[in-house]
Amino acid sequence: MAWSATVLTLFPDMFPGPLGLSLAGDALKRGAWSLDAYDIRTHGLGRHRAVDDTPAGGGAGMVIRADVLAAAIDAVAPEGDARPRLLMSPRGRPLNQSRVRELAAGPGAIIVCGRFEGVDERVIEGRRLEEVSIGDYVLSGGEIAALVTMDACVRLLPGVMGKDASGEDESFEGGLLEYPHYTRPREWEGRSIPDVLLSGDHGRVAKWRRAESERITRERRPDLLR
Ligand code: SAM
Repeated sequence: MAWSATVLTLFPDMFPGPLGLSLAGDALKRGAWSLDAYDIRTHGLGRHRAVDDTPAGGGAGMVIRADVLAAAIDAVAPEGDARPRLLMSPRGRPLNQSRVRELAAGPGAIIVCGRFEGVDERVIEGRRLEEVSIGDYVLSGGEIAALVTMDACVRLLPGVMGKDASGEDESFEGGLLEYPHYTRPREWEGRSIPDVLLSGDHGRVAKWRRAESERITRERRPDLLR
């Protein structure tokens, strides 16, 4: 079975969006993964298909109702669906490459996109949603976070990146940021490619890259070295 993503959203037209193009889009077309965008409003209430209501306790904004969202989740992911249920949320555990690898190795993901002030806490508990953040900033909705999460997973699926780019050498793999890259021309605006990269000595190249990875990680993300 191909890796399968189901996204619950109030904006299904945002999908596949950029994931319909390039590597992910080609893989989608040939069935290496699948993507269904399911409209939460299908389970909205009343003539206006309302999905949200005012926050208990007062305050600004609206909250997505637990009963509406649970009905949508139950419709796409009945008990027994082994896919993890993710809720995109700035409050969530930050997404990192090791969680991405785990997700990519599994059967896929059910991804809930919040809007407004977020979702009723009871549906997070009752449907065992794993809150996932894509960074310490607030987006207007979970859709872009869902696209980010799926992109990171899909590029790791077998055959998606092609044989020249295994992904094993990249930033966060092995705990370091990646070393600098260069290509032709050899000289550009008075800047040259480091001699070692043109030496043909694979051992020296590997050593230089490792040292550069360590330097850049130390300077920019010392937290990764801890
Ligand atoms: N009131 C929420 C808070 O302060 O934590 C922010 C709600 S935000 C305006 C609306 C939705 O965008 C969230 O429910 C979530 O689905 C999504 N979102 C916003 N920032 C995100 C982030 N950094 N990572 C993942 N999802 C995010």
